[in-house]
Amino acid sequence: MDMQTSLLDRLFDAGHLIDTGIDGLYGRGGGFEAVITGFERLIDAHAPADAKPEVIRFPPGMNRAHFEGSGYMKSFPQLAGTVHSFCGCELDHMNLLQCMAEGEDWTQGQQATDVVLTPAACYPLYPVIARRGPLPEGGGLFDLQSYCFRHEPSKDPARMQLFRMREFVRMGTPEDVMAFRADWMERGQKLIEAVGLDPELDTANDPFFGRAGKMMGNSQREQKLKFELLIPVTSQANKTACLSFNYHQDHFGHTWGLSTADGETAHTACVGFGLERIALALFARHGLDTDAWPASIREALWG
Ligand code: ATP
Ligand code: ZN
Repeated sequence: MDMQTSLLDRLFDAGHLIDTGIDGLYGRGGGFEAVITGFERLIDAHAPADAKPEVIRFPPGMNRAHFEGSGYMKSFPQLAGTVHSFCGCELDHMNLLQCMAEGEDWTQGQQATDVVLTPAACYPLYPVIARRGPLPEGGGLFDLQSYCFRHEPSKDPARMQLFRMREFVRMGTPEDVMAFRADWMERGQKLIEAVGLDPELDTANDPFFGRAGKMMGNSQREQKLKFELLIPVTSQANKTACLSFNYHQDHFGHTWGLSTADGETAHTACVGFGLERIALALFARHGLDTDAWPASIREALWG
């Protein structure tokens, strides 16, 4: 049995994750949730005291038109999830039930709704903020958290299909958003060290689709547009990206017509915390019994 399967089985046995029969789709036990709640509180405590972000919680589905406009399907078609529904008449319904009864594919008649599953917590934000008009003087700062969907079924507990991302998003001048990202790269490392984990900062790239995607990934790396904090979860050698720090340049500003108070196209950056991955890193490091975790770690999370 490899390390990933063994950690997953131990998490099931401890009741931290609950098996649904689908890889990457799990229930969470109370102990697991308490770790996430404690860690989110710690994120708040490590955020700059004077920053005062606007707090927004979107549901895990987003406006399909906004999703289409974001260009997600150009880069990551393999990860996207859409919401389909039955939109037929009574005869269609009878056919559907018959299909199901005969074990045939009943999903063929399902039609796309106006909702798609949120792929990253910040995606629903940009078009909504752009609609307000130019950013105020000093730009914008937002605090988000959402379940996100990515179609990447796996036995690796750190690779889920539905997981939560906490994000801070900065919008404004290139200088302001770069300063925000640099600040969070430091804060993120201190935050991770405060719970007894060893972070390693590295440049990274997103999993762009196809052959052209390889070039996009290389260019993203060369331009240092994405950094990740890597932490051991299932392996000391192959660490897992638990936080990411992304500079989108003027991509979202340009896409959504988002501008600064001076009328320039806004630049954006985000810092994303993979909440389940951080909880898993904590369980892997300190053991599955949170009562037995070192007092300093318990104090940091729940003190
Ligand atoms: P974007 O750059 O498009 O705004 P993002 O930076 O917000 O995206 P990612 O960097 O792709 O999103 O992911 C953010 C964090 O979410 C990652 O650092 C990781 O911790 C977590 N994450 C990503 N994929 C998974 C997954 N399949 N299961 C669990 N956690 C994940
Ligand atoms: Zn983001």
